[in-house]
Amino acid sequence: MSLLVVGSVALDSVYTPFGETADALGGSAVYFSVAASLLHPVRVVGVVGDDFPVPELERLSAAGIDWAGVERARGESFRWKGKYSYDLQSRETLETRLGVFADFRPKLPAGWQAAKYIFLGNIDPVLQLGVLEQMTAPRLVVCDTMNYWIQGKKAELMALLGRVDILLVNDSEARELSGDWNIHRAGRWILRHGPKMVVIKQGEYGALLLERERTFYVPAYPLEEVFDPTGAGDAFAGGFMGYLARVGSTDPGQLRRAMVYGSAMGGFAVQGFGIRGFENIDYDAVQKRVGAFVELTHVPSAEPIP
Ligand code: AMP
Repeated sequence: MSLLVVGSVALDSVYTPFGETADALGGSAVYFSVAASLLHPVRVVGVVGDDFPVPELERLSAAGIDWAGVERARGESFRWKGKYSYDLQSRETLETRLGVFADFRPKLPAGWQAAKYIFLGNIDPVLQLGVLEQMTAPRLVVCDTMNYWIQGKKAELMALLGRVDILLVNDSEARELSGDWNIHRAGRWILRHGPKMVVIKQGEYGALLLERERTFYVPAYPLEEVFDPTGAGDAFAGGFMGYLARVGSTDPGQLRRAMVYGSAMGGFAVQGFGIRGFENIDYDAVQKRVGAFVELTHVPSAEPIP
């Protein structure tokens, strides 16, 4: 089942209490692909400028990432700079330089329109809709967004929500979009506005999958060392979608497993700066971590108390 992502391919500069990076490979499409490709080949649609270290992307091709949909435009690449608080719970965006991203109009290469599993990474909802319009018969459309678009392009975002199967956002985005501080009510509000399901990520507190009739919760993998939370949400999305594309199913049981793969990938992402948390991670390492979730959450049925 073909898997496609559209999103940012970026150069990130990140400061955390444990170190910093400058112009390191990042962006939503990159984090997504690095995680998803551990489970299924991925096709990427995006844009980079003529200053981008393209060999760094090409090095990742061997893992099953096809960059043929990444346009090389004249000008500066998209750059993002962020700084995390001491407990890594909050971050401040220091700078966003759109560069070639400002004029980006995603265009799918020939043959990619038939992709079945699509992740619309956090970009302008108008562009997300533009990608959907190029697709012929998607089976599962999942989208992300951020406060910037909730504030600036709410009407366009609401139109997009009517056309996606799953909205995957973090808790602050769900609150802002719905205007309700309670994430369960916020999730219900989102379900009334289009998507069949909503995934709400809560950082180190795990993630919720909400449907009209059911709620499922997966914890985050307990880690004693966390270096850089950047991209955890996109890596979660990569694990979630990569698993569903691999099994070619969106049955309720598979969706729950996909949440566990998402959480496992989010954990790898935060264990190193940039995408370094994925160095030396292979399919077996993913399976081992997914197995650890079974141990972490399994509750044996209780014997009746006499
Ligand atoms: P996350 O930590 O999951 O929110 O994702 C962080 C990634 O999003 C970084 O690698 C950034 O390059 C990228 N990013 C930050 N701001 C934007 C934006 N306005 N549009 C697209 N990508 C962005």
